[in-house]
Amino acid sequence: MTHQNHRIALIPGDGIGTEVLPPARRVLDAVGRRHGIGFSYTSYDWSCERYVREGSMMPEDGLDRLREADAILLGAVGYPGVPDHVSLWGLLIPIRRTFRQYVNLRPVRVFEGVDSPLRSAAAGEVDLVVVRENVEGEYSEIGGRLNHGTPEELAVQEAVFTRTGVTRIADYAFSLAARRRGKLTSATKSNGIIHTMPFWDELIAERAAEHSGVTWDQEHIDALAAKFVLDPARFDVVVASNLFGDILSDLAAAVAGSIGIAPAANLNPERDFPSMFEPVHGSAPDIAGQGIANPLGAIWSAALMLDHLGHPEAAGDIDNAITAVLAKSDVRTRDLGGTATTEEFTEKLLELL
Ligand code: ATP
Ligand code: MG
Repeated sequence: MTHQNHRIALIPGDGIGTEVLPPARRVLDAVGRRHGIGFSYTSYDWSCERYVREGSMMPEDGLDRLREADAILLGAVGYPGVPDHVSLWGLLIPIRRTFRQYVNLRPVRVFEGVDSPLRSAAAGEVDLVVVRENVEGEYSEIGGRLNHGTPEELAVQEAVFTRTGVTRIADYAFSLAARRRGKLTSATKSNGIIHTMPFWDELIAERAAEHSGVTWDQEHIDALAAKFVLDPARFDVVVASNLFGDILSDLAAAVAGSIGIAPAANLNPERDFPSMFEPVHGSAPDIAGQGIANPLGAIWSAALMLDHLGHPEAAGDIDNAITAVLAKSDVRTRDLGGTATTEEFTEKLLELL
């Protein structure tokens, strides 16, 4: 068995971020032992707490240190009183942009043993991935405000879509669909947004020609959101711009039953910089420090990391253990209607691994 060593940068962050990363690490070490994969971890205390203490989320040379890693595993950042834009612009966005993590990947499944709030989402049938463009589109810095406080006051925000940016996210999504069930849906709104969205549609169609094994269609974002609620099982891979993908991926995570399970990957598919993996949930100050957070979001994120590092079998073992712990045991954390602590739930999962 070949022994591979991966350097993992851990950023536990704030609140329950610090409580869900240790379980993820235990699970990684356990599958690593079985598959001959080694990990060396470097932990960084970069967080909103650090911001409160020292005035910045991370040190000046933070990005240079991360550059050395093969992957980054992040818990959550957020602290009462610290506005979201501090953690976003002080840590997450610099990491995504510097390391060209232009794919935001959000798998969603409705597991056996977890109740979705939707009658339409039967356990075991919903298995989709939202592929969100992560670095351009609607979230641009171009624009401004004029005539403050006057009747002529106005604000302009430009969306920027590039041929390179749309082509590469399309290619990623089509390739992913080819490895899954071969179905892709593109989120658009070219009936109302008349410059950027027709461009998006044209480029998706152009790339579709290069991926003939995949069946694809496109839906306007309003109709698509309704279908996520009415019939989520019809979707396989959904590709969307930065804003549409942001909205769809939160909607999809809610459909799945608990925000505590949902994982996310910020991928650099070229692998010239590290990718970053993080649970979708935040620091959850309301339950932080009690040892009751659901660790599955972090554990599933670790599985996505293993897959990206070239270990699909090891990632599959984690997937199976998550499925098993939800379907076969009644040990669960409070968000899933149980009474188990993070520790007890992790023990049960390790037992089933
Ligand atoms: P932040 O400001 O860091 O985004 P938040 O409170 O806005 O934090 P979340 O942390 O995502 O947002 O929490 C939303 C709700 O979901 C909270 O009530 C929280 O307790 C619950 N929650 C989130 N993650 C988990 C988890 N892993 N286990 C259990 N409950 C969770
Ligand atoms: Mg929040």
